[in-house]
Amino acid sequence: MDSTVSHPSITENFDELSQAVLDHYWMPYTQSEDLARAGGPMFIIEGEGIRLKDSSGKSYIDGMGGLALVNVGHGRKEIVDAIASQLGQVHYANTFAYASIPTAKLSKRLSDLTPGDLGRVFFTSGGSEAVDTALKMARQYHVNNGESQRTKIIARRGSYHGVSLGALSVNSARHVQRKVWEPMLAPVRFVGPDPDEVAELVQFEGPDTFSTFITEPVCFTRGVEVPQDDYWPRLREICDKHGILLIADEVINGFGRTGKMFAMEHWGVTPDMMIFAKGITSGYMPVGGVMARPKVYEAFIGDSTKTFTHGYTYSGHPGGAAAALANLDIIERENLVENAADVGSYMLGQLSALKEHSMVKGTRGIGLMAAVQLTKDKATGEPLTKGDPKLKSLDEKLLDKGLLTRTYPFLYLAPPLIITREEVDEMVGIIDESLTEVESEE
Ligand code: PLP
Repeated sequence: MDSTVSHPSITENFDELSQAVLDHYWMPYTQSEDLARAGGPMFIIEGEGIRLKDSSGKSYIDGMGGLALVNVGHGRKEIVDAIASQLGQVHYANTFAYASIPTAKLSKRLSDLTPGDLGRVFFTSGGSEAVDTALKMARQYHVNNGESQRTKIIARRGSYHGVSLGALSVNSARHVQRKVWEPMLAPVRFVGPDPDEVAELVQFEGPDTFSTFITEPVCFTRGVEVPQDDYWPRLREICDKHGILLIADEVINGFGRTGKMFAMEHWGVTPDMMIFAKGITSGYMPVGGVMARPKVYEAFIGDSTKTFTHGYTYSGHPGGAAAALANLDIIERENLVENAADVGSYMLGQLSALKEHSMVKGTRGIGLMAAVQLTKDKATGEPLTKGDPKLKSLDEKLLDKGLLTRTYPFLYLAPPLIITREEVDEMVGIIDESLTEVESEE
C-alpha cells in the first residue's frame, strides 16, 4: 500500500462534543435518546487500511466499509493529496457553464471503463440524486421521442435506491418506511425475481405505458441476492422488445465490489443507464452519477426544448473528480477487482461454516459483499425482527470484539477490497465467537 496519512494527536473534549451531538445533531435514522442511553455517540477519529479507531483508542475492523463504499481502504494519502492539490488549484467554478480538468479526464475514463457503449456521464453528489437523475432522464427521453404517455416505472421488490422522493418511489427495501410519504412521485410497479412476471405485467398494462425498469444487478439489501443466470439477459430482451429503458443501479455493486469492475459484466449485459456513487471515490468525496448509452443521449440533441434541464450545484465538482481519478488509479494498480474476486470467494467459504449456528439460516454473497441470514428459529427460517434482544446482544458483542457491521435485516459484510485472507479470518472469527456467546444466553 502507498503511504497512509499521518494522524496528529487529537485533544478534543469528547464530553462536550458528545453533548453537542445529543443536543444539536440530527443523525440519520437515529433517535437522540437511543444515543444518550448508549452513553453518547461513538466518535470515529482515525482510519487506516481496513481499520477505524474510536476516541478511546479502541480499534475496529470496518466490516461494512462504511456504508459499503470504502473500496480502497482508509487513510490513502494519494487520494487526500489529489483532492488537496485540486482544491488549491481551483476548488469550484459554475458547473453549469464550465468544465474542469479532472472532470474531463474522469468522463473519458468512465466511458472507457464501463460496459458496452455506455459513454456519456452525468455527475451528481451521491446515489439518490443519481437515481432521480436517471428516472428523469428516462422520462424526458420518451417525451423527446414523442411518447409522453410512458410514465410508469418497474422496480425490483426489496431493492434499495436511496431516500430522495424520486429515489424512494422506486425503493422498497425492507428497512425503509414508505407509507409516511405516500403517494410517491411516479407510478411504480414492484416485481419479484422472475423475468416472466415482468413480461406479463408489461403485456397486461400496455408496453407503451412504461418508461423504465430499475434494479441493482445484485440486490445488497435483499441479503446480497444474486439473480439467476438468465435474469439480466431476459430483462434486456423484454426492455428492447417494448422500448423500455433498462437501468442498473451499481451504487454498491460498482468499482470492484462483486469481483468484476461492474456487476453487469457477470452477465455481459449493457444497461441503457448505469447509476454509480459510493465506490467511485471510496467515500473520500461525495460523488455519484449516471452513465448513458448514445441511444439515450441522442434523444436530447436538437432544439432547446430537448435539453436535459437538470443539474446539481456539485455536478462534476473538481475535487470529487480528482478523488475519483486517484481512487481508480489505486483500484487498478493494486488489482483490487481481482482481490475482491479471490479473497471474496475465500470469505464466502469461511462464512459458510457459520451455518452450524442455530441463529444462522444461511450465508450468501458474491465478491466482497456477503450477508448472513439470521433467524429466530432455524426450523421455520423466521427472520429475527428489529429490536429482538438477541440482535441487540449480538450487536454489543460484535462491537466489543472490534467489528463494525450492520445486523438488520441481515448481518452484512462489505469490507474494503484491500482485505487479506488473514483479516477475513479475524472478521469471521469475531462473528463466530459472538454468535456462540449469544446462543449460550438462551
Ligand atoms: N442505490 C443503492 C443501490 C444504494 O445502496 C444507495 C445507498 O446505499 C443508494 C442508491 C443511495 O445512495 P445515497 O445514499 O448516496 O443517496
